[in-house]
Amino acid sequence: MLPIEEAVARVLALARPISDVVELPLLEALGLVLASDVVSTLDVPPQDNSAMDGYALRAGDADRALPVSQRIPAGAVGCALEGGTAARIFTGAPIPGGADAVVMQEDCVESSGTVRVSGAVVVGQNIRPRGQDIAAGETVLVAGRVLRPQDLGLLASVGCSSVRVYRPLRVAVLSTGDELVEPGSGELGEGCIYNSNRYTLTGLLRALNLEVVDCGIVADTPEATGAALSTAAARADCVITTGGVSVGEEDHVRNQVQKLGRLDLWKLAIKPGKPLAFGSIGETPFIGLPGNPTSVFVTFCLVARPFLLKLQGVVESEPLRLQALAAFSVPRPGTRQDYLRVTLENTADGLRACRYANQSSGVLSSVSHSNALAIIPIGATVEEGDTVEVLLLDLAIRG
Ligand code: AMP
Ligand code: MG
Repeated sequence: MLPIEEAVARVLALARPISDVVELPLLEALGLVLASDVVSTLDVPPQDNSAMDGYALRAGDADRALPVSQRIPAGAVGCALEGGTAARIFTGAPIPGGADAVVMQEDCVESSGTVRVSGAVVVGQNIRPRGQDIAAGETVLVAGRVLRPQDLGLLASVGCSSVRVYRPLRVAVLSTGDELVEPGSGELGEGCIYNSNRYTLTGLLRALNLEVVDCGIVADTPEATGAALSTAAARADCVITTGGVSVGEEDHVRNQVQKLGRLDLWKLAIKPGKPLAFGSIGETPFIGLPGNPTSVFVTFCLVARPFLLKLQGVVESEPLRLQALAAFSVPRPGTRQDYLRVTLENTADGLRACRYANQSSGVLSSVSHSNALAIIPIGATVEEGDTVEVLLLDLAIRG
């Protein structure tokens, strides 16, 4: 069994990022990965401007009543300010030449065309200097970054209307298991269960803005498994299966991958999620996730996600970890790193982690009704009140 850190390092070393780049209008690039650095050609803001509605003046003139010599709303340009006068000015309007401070209107009294300010006035106050956000020539965003809403705004602020991004990765999803029935396709026969992994996995892939190629349910025979793997590999940049990678004679995925390509690793020292296979079918990377629904979620987040993100061109993808106080104990040390499903709550002492009662890898409710994974290292025990590392599920999914 491989420690998780080693498994992730090995799969990342095998990831070859895609090179297909498309240029898309800014609004269509949300969640996609920037393929080139973006360098600003201008200063943002483009000129010194007012941070307040108020009066622009020379700080040295602030001790006397000043005639209001002009009015500068946002979008207008004033003229140079004569000494001993003030300009009525609004947030975002350019500072007129000669003025060196803005006093907010709450600190001013205007009557009969003159304004008197109260309190001390300091040179530069309430002025947002040209280029304070971004300077011309500065790299605004670096290639390899997933574009978030605020990034689209930042790119727009330097005048970008389109960006170069990597095309979304196509990921084939195959569910193995003779017991599986698709929800909506009829009653459950005896011994059958609904295919839930397909939905979890498709959701996880879409949350990363990847394209899903649904390859359906595959019967537990070597022939059907081999044929489905070949077809899936021809249709996608990566194939992900669930189930059929364990040691039983009904598990055909590993053998077929070895026939059609190569198996690079199998079996992780984590819980849930021991049986995870990684390799390739022809030239197409392959990830065989376990069958148990909770294991699918955990192994996807820990292993498949960083691999897929690297294939997609993402440079940095490790989610932040936080610390929480355990509201549970782990009296016996384990031989695999445990990812307990927990709910984090805010308390006066910081975060508190409450363990979901049933931690069986078949209990998907443990994931739905939790908001984090508490990481219990191999060999560790935990007493109530100890500090444990936790991974927020939302970050584990999206980063
Ligand atoms: P396996 O690794 O194929 O032996 O599967 C392990 C467990 O996960 C078994 O109880 C399967 O019934 C269950 N399982 C496998 N695939 C799915 C699926 N797509 N949806 C829900 N449960 C599954
Ligand atoms: Mg199976």
